[in-house]
Amino acid sequence: MSTPKPLFNRLALIGAGLIGSSIARAAKAQNAVGSIVATARSPETRRRVAELGLADQVVETNAAAVEGADLVIVCVPVGACGSVAKEIGSRLAPGAIVSDVGSVKGTVVRDMSPHLPQNVHFIPAHPVAGTEYSGPDAGFAELFVNRWCIVTPPAGADAAATGKLAAFWRLLGANVDTMAPDHHDLVLAVTSHLPHLIAYTIVGTADELETVTRSEVLKFSAGGFRDFTRIAASDPTMWRDVFLANKDAVLEMLGRFNEDIALLTKAIRNGDGKTLFDHFARTRAIRKGIVDIGQDSPGPDFGRQHSGLPHEPLPKPYSAD
Ligand code: NAP
Repeated sequence: MSTPKPLFNRLALIGAGLIGSSIARAAKAQNAVGSIVATARSPETRRRVAELGLADQVVETNAAAVEGADLVIVCVPVGACGSVAKEIGSRLAPGAIVSDVGSVKGTVVRDMSPHLPQNVHFIPAHPVAGTEYSGPDAGFAELFVNRWCIVTPPAGADAAATGKLAAFWRLLGANVDTMAPDHHDLVLAVTSHLPHLIAYTIVGTADELETVTRSEVLKFSAGGFRDFTRIAASDPTMWRDVFLANKDAVLEMLGRFNEDIALLTKAIRNGDGKTLFDHFARTRAIRKGIVDIGQDSPGPDFGRQHSGLPHEPLPKPYSAD
């Protein structure tokens, strides 16, 4: 069977960390683009991108990267998107699609739009996929498979360009949804940004305890804390920028969260088991829903593999047979 023609002739990736390098790997694996040119801020990252063979060409500047590219994807922390747009604006090829992968959309649209010429299509997007690791070595081609990519075309965006970008993300394995930028920011504030803030807080709280030692926290971390530490290991620059850029939506969700935690605090204080049980039963159903739609593993312990444990279940002393 002949390989289908690439969707784009030349993909320029600005930033080649976890997300940029995963796009490069996936685009190559899927023959989604004719060639890839990549750049990154530091010489070290650019050298690593070349060593890993992630791009056909590695260049030193953002402006040089976009020359002749019909798809440009900006993969840097959201706070840096505006200055990148300023650097590339005058060098973009007419008709090019310019996109990004930022975890916040409203400020990215506001920061980038003024620097982009009228003759390109600016279609921001956010692949809702990631890990707690950063840098070009952290990426992998399958990162976007069965994950959502939210496309946030501005009002009046060209439908064909939006459709072509959506087709690119589908080719990389993602499901595509479309939203207004500010609605995206509200949805992600509750599904991603608030959970990260809670994880960053609770790991810091545990670290500052005086009556429980740090070694006890580490030793007994499987009781729930461990999963918070994974989230709290996420890149500090990226997440600083997310909270600064999505201030209003995060503060709105944080207000609601504080009200709800006050209700649970009161239930614990009053010995109100019914309130606690009803709440936990509702949240358990939400977890089941996430597993049912394939957004997480149904395996125990979140699907973690435990090497060293016997494959057969341990005999139960209370087993009837
Ligand atoms: P990353 O692994 O830390 O990579 C960031 C890249 O941006 C690196 O190539 C870095 O270059 C470059 N960079 C950093 N600061 C810059 C600046 N001020 N100007 C120009 N380039 C700069 O980060 P990532 O996880 O790929 O995240 C990139 C974007 O994807 C962010 O906007 C983030 O919100 C979004 N996103 C992340 C995730 C996730 O889970 N990580 C998921 C979805 C979307 P150097 O290496 O040379 O410093």
